[in-house]
Amino acid sequence: MLPAMANYVDKLQPAFTEAFSLAARGAADLAGHMSPDVENLAGWLFGTNEAEAQRRLGNVQRIPATFSTNIRDLSNLNDVVVYCNMDRYQTSNRPDGALYDPNTGSYLKLSEVDSMMCKTGQAIAGQRRPKAITANYPRWDTRKPPVLTTMDICNWYLEFVKSSQWATESDVESGSPTFPSLWGFLESLATTHQETFGRTRMDISALFEHTLLHELTHSDKVGTPQYEIPEAESYGWDKCVEAKSATNSDSLAFFALGCQFINQGYTIGSFGNIDSPSPSRENSPPRRRRTIVSRLWAS
Ligand SMILES: [Zn+2]
Repeated sequence: MLPAMANYVDKLQPAFTEAFSLAARGAADLAGHMSPDVENLAGWLFGTNEAEAQRRLGNVQRIPATFSTNIRDLSNLNDVVVYCNMDRYQTSNRPDGALYDPNTGSYLKLSEVDSMMCKTGQAIAGQRRPKAITANYPRWDTRKPPVLTTMDICNWYLEFVKSSQWATESDVESGSPTFPSLWGFLESLATTHQETFGRTRMDISALFEHTLLHELTHSDKVGTPQYEIPEAESYGWDKCVEAKSATNSDSLAFFALGCQFINQGYTIGSFGNIDSPSPSRENSPPRRRRTIVSRLWAS
């Protein structure tokens, strides 16, 4: 169940559905015999640890996918609760500046700068604003079973998604008639609207559902949360390829995104390039067409 403010449900619900299906696609493509394209993608992003990636992407389905905006009792909830603003947090006088969440009775261990940037949408001292913050609450009362995950989607980002005609993959797929090239279109969006971590085609194709899948993989329902693993989080295609980590959220989300492209006939390169299907692959049946063309040419 994923409660959210009614204001954003129209954008959130389909994007979460897409995030769950991206994860399922990625897990399925890692299972059994991988195609050479998928094998390459897994090698660049996970090194030899694709089994862990498969486990984590599969575990995303352990998060209840039923979307509800009507959750009141958080005390016994094995779920992800989505918030669309940070209003509930109270300042604390703890030395680490952690914010107090009265709904869970826990503290959000997050840098003051990050929580402030999420809350206000203002970048501070040249730092990148977070789009979302996911936290797992430990069993603060061991007599109860709750392992609650909260996801704060920063309000500035939700406002962007809500106002943008092109916030999700399906927005792009169903539109952009004036642009001959999908990538030229996404590149123009990336320079005018989007805050991305790189400028490879994989980076600029990482839209709202990518962000949501990234955040879902931070849940302890998916695996040991990343911040309990002694490695810094890597963002963006280049850093993910460098890290080769099957526990890194952005790597998992990029892999799932890449699998979707591969399944649509695109090819992904190690530099995050995505190449369009060749004309012969766009039409069906592809091989026959190519054969006919080469025969005609040969004759
Ligand atoms: Zn993250």
